[in-house]
Amino acid sequence: MSETKIPYKIYLDESEIPKEWYNVRADMKIKPAPLINPATHKKLEAEELAPIFCEELVKQELDEDTAYFPIPEEILDFYKMYRPAPLVRAYYLEKKLGTPAKIYYKFEGNNTSGSHKLNSAIAQAYYAKKQGLKGVTTETGAGQWGTALSMACSYFDLDCKVYMVKVSYEQKPFRREVMRTYGATVTPSPSETTEVGKKILAEHPGTTGSLGCAISEAVEVAVSNEGYRYVLGSVLNQVLLHQSIIGLETKAALDKYGIEPDIIIGCAGGGSNLGGLIAPFMGEKLRGEKDYRIIAVEPASCPSFTRGKFAYDFCDTGMICPLAKMYTLGCDFIPSPSHAGGLRFHGMSTTLSQLYHDGYMEATAVDQTAVFEAAEMFARVEGILPAPESSHAIRVAIDEALKCKETGEEKTIVFGLTGTGYFDMVAYEKFHDGLMSDQVPTDEELEASFAKLPKVEE
Ligand SMILES: *Cc1c(COP(=O)(O)O)cnc(C)c1O
Repeated sequence: MSETKIPYKIYLDESEIPKEWYNVRADMKIKPAPLINPATHKKLEAEELAPIFCEELVKQELDEDTAYFPIPEEILDFYKMYRPAPLVRAYYLEKKLGTPAKIYYKFEGNNTSGSHKLNSAIAQAYYAKKQGLKGVTTETGAGQWGTALSMACSYFDLDCKVYMVKVSYEQKPFRREVMRTYGATVTPSPSETTEVGKKILAEHPGTTGSLGCAISEAVEVAVSNEGYRYVLGSVLNQVLLHQSIIGLETKAALDKYGIEPDIIIGCAGGGSNLGGLIAPFMGEKLRGEKDYRIIAVEPASCPSFTRGKFAYDFCDTGMICPLAKMYTLGCDFIPSPSHAGGLRFHGMSTTLSQLYHDGYMEATAVDQTAVFEAAEMFARVEGILPAPESSHAIRVAIDEALKCKETGEEKTIVFGLTGTGYFDMVAYEKFHDGLMSDQVPTDEELEASFAKLPKVEE
């Protein structure tokens, strides 16, 4: 098919929204290591997870054999409010760069929460409602997950208690108000409302918080309140499963025009958008049908893949959650308060960790100022004002396209544009005023954190 026939935006029809989620674990020969009980170091069973998570979500979490899960009708109905998401050919960015590369991005920011997180929020709220629960608790970093979950809970009439990382609570009052608009209660974390919050405050007075702290608080509230469960916006296998809608739609749109990507790029915080975007492509790669270069992009201030250890660790700072084998900086690691709040998690999805460990994908870390340079260029030529998190992927997509300019290769690059940055204008302001700096942890800081990793015999 000739180039000119490819429209600026490739939209699928509503009827082409995928009806099933894809579970990449089903095609992995080496499965991700199981979650283990922090006390016994034995593999966690469904019964142990039941007090924390919704039943149906526990099933999804532990299922590594079922390749496809039908998406319930009620969830598909909600998806129709903002999906299918467009796959955009970045013609203007290509022109600006003068590259022979063909760049596409999957835009997930077209909903009020402003990010891909709604794809899993609505699924998790649905299963909580189906189980007859009163409400759910969660943490939020930059606020995108809390916003998405509050929208989903309001749709299904569930109570929603959000623990928001303190630095974001203070820097992003507007997100807090969006959550309250949808009926959620929002508490800055660490807080005095939980035992674990009090303990963290005593040990780190004046801390600006971290996702790890907020998770501990939200879990404590869920297990100590009748009719509540905890839900998480990233990292877990169930979240990657729901986010596979991103990749399935992307693949369907590319297939429609016979486009074969060479490089697929996504930013990586806990790994959910990247895991979702790459899922069907990784499936082909795992089955030996196709090959793609897959690149995870993380901030140099929180470099789990590129400088972390592949080891069992807690997912939370309070050390009350299960242990997961993942690339981690240590659960005690509190990254410097960078502006990519959604990428400030010390660990990484176990599935992506295993795939990275086995050589199925690459990872690279980028500096904050370089990320904002890319964000600004993108906003000026493509129109969309990107989230700082998403801009990590933009940075590397631009770098790869510039390499093509040098070599003359016409590679096809696909990247995930996970959201919009309207609530991140303080970060943009710092960048414009030349007040943004690149914070990178020292080897000594990381070693000190690794020394505290739990000792687990495998
Ligand atoms: C939360 C978030 C991310 C990072 O989370 P993942 O689970 O790694 O996808 C990236 N982009 C945006 C806009 C986010 O809100």
